[in-house]
Amino acid sequence: MRTFISFDEARQIVLAEANGLGTERCSINDALGRILAEDIISQDNIPPFASSAMDGYAVRSEDVLEGALLEVIEHIPAGQVPQRIVTAGSCARIMTGAPIPEGADAIIPREVSQEKDGKVQFSTPTQKGKHIRPAAEDVRKGDLVFVNGQRITPPVVGMLATLGKDTVRVSKRPNVVVFSTGDEVVSPEKEPGPGQIRNSNGPALRAQVLMAGGLCPAYVHLPDNPATIREAILANSGADFMIFSGGVSVGDHDYVKEVLDDLGMELMFWKVRQRPGKPLAFGRLGKTLVLGLPGNPVSSSTCFMMYGNPIIEALLGAREPDAGERAVLLEDVTKVSNLHYFARGILRQDAEGLSVVSLTGPQGSNLFGSVVKANCILHLPEGVALVEKGTVVQVDRLSW
Ligand code: AMP
Ligand code: MG
Repeated sequence: MRTFISFDEARQIVLAEANGLGTERCSINDALGRILAEDIISQDNIPPFASSAMDGYAVRSEDVLEGALLEVIEHIPAGQVPQRIVTAGSCARIMTGAPIPEGADAIIPREVSQEKDGKVQFSTPTQKGKHIRPAAEDVRKGDLVFVNGQRITPPVVGMLATLGKDTVRVSKRPNVVVFSTGDEVVSPEKEPGPGQIRNSNGPALRAQVLMAGGLCPAYVHLPDNPATIREAILANSGADFMIFSGGVSVGDHDYVKEVLDDLGMELMFWKVRQRPGKPLAFGRLGKTLVLGLPGNPVSSSTCFMMYGNPIIEALLGAREPDAGERAVLLEDVTKVSNLHYFARGILRQDAEGLSVVSLTGPQGSNLFGSVVKANCILHLPEGVALVEKGTVVQVDRLSW
């Protein structure tokens, strides 16, 4: 077991252990947020046929001269195949999305057309190809449209539907169990007694798991009692990922690590040179990954962002996490030199369009307001005791 390691090392260990969980087929209607586990190659041209981009008239561009009257030989609504060929002196009334009739090479919009008694006259000239959407303009048959590892966003759902891929192969979603711990912690609907606090980590961590794409029907709260903790772990041994809040530090009643050790967990590291969240623990119990987060709500949620999120992404089969962005720090920040800080920040653009970042206020690890206000996490690396105003720092934008 390694201890008091750097943030970079801890992240590498975590990412090396978290691998995709296999794949399954799923309807595109249930695929939002999931990760494609296959390349998508188009079997069709998109659009499949040349069509009109306007409601108007399909004409031979050379026929549209000043004052010329063209005979309207057909009406073509969207969804119908033209029956007639447009020959010299004729044209077809056509609606947006309808196939271009043979012979026609341009569309004239209705707004500049006057139709009377089966004949039509135009107030502007046109040119070949005008207002025609060519076949295969968007996608060509045989194109590689999406690659394995692509996250399924709303436009990806739309494109898959267009391509006729109504089901796709996706990575399986991890089954995640969130355990909050602590005798002092009561359910949010209860009035806390003397010395008690409401459980915020259970609901917040579960919400973070869901947002990251994990499955987590409910969180489970455990008292500081080794036998109960043991039972709950055994009852959930089929999970892909277990997250504990609390009980991993060195307090008299921090039993989580001890019970996991007893059950044979391979503890990969305990304690990271970081703030918040120094007593973070990570290991593997059989096939289940285990992340032990300090109970402090700021530590628990921030460390989930830094470790839990990338673990779930990796279990989902996503590609490497983003490298983050850079922004100019707007204030001096003092810190403990040998720790990597995850400060909660507000990232914005200044009047010149430069990315700038400031802290959300006091950063005490008991102040959850510092997390609630944040739209990013700023990384203040190890090895400096003062990060000066004007320094360019790395920021991770939060996904909410
Ligand atoms: P621990 O890591 O168990 O020593 O907890 C550290 C601090 O976080 C203590 O002040 C706890 O009361 C608090 N805490 C632990 N679990 C929770 C929770 N689920 N919700 C809110 N606060 C918690
Ligand atoms: Mg505790």
